[in-house]
Amino acid sequence: MDDKTLGKYKKMLLEDRMDLLSELQRVANGEKNKDRSGAMDLADLADASYTADYSLAWTEKINLRIREIDESIDRIKDDTYGVCQMCGEDIPEGRLKVRPNAKYCAQCKEDLEKRGETK
Ligand SMILES: [Zn+2]
Repeated sequence: MDDKTLGKYKKMLLEDRMDLLSELQRVANGEKNKDRSGAMDLADLADASYTADYSLAWTEKINLRIREIDESIDRIKDDTYGVCQMCGEDIPEGRLKVRPNAKYCAQCKEDLEKRGETK
């Protein structure tokens, strides 16, 4: 992957990271998340009910995403970005565009999910 492409993903990751941090801030302030558009694939929590555990679960989820993004940025520095951590194959760019913090190719991700080792 060339530097220009890497730079593009790094920018996407940093922007996502900033979104997540401001989301954390909102949760910390006790605000309900009104506008979730652009919040990546966090929409899977959209159906979560507003229970007492909601903020905690949400915060954990966001923190996990931030960790994934940090790991991706580390991989950019290590020059291993865009390579599946399971099989060592390149992750297709189409997948990275949708999920710049992906660390597995679609096949390995599916295998892991079948074995219940990741979410
Ligand atoms: Zn793979």
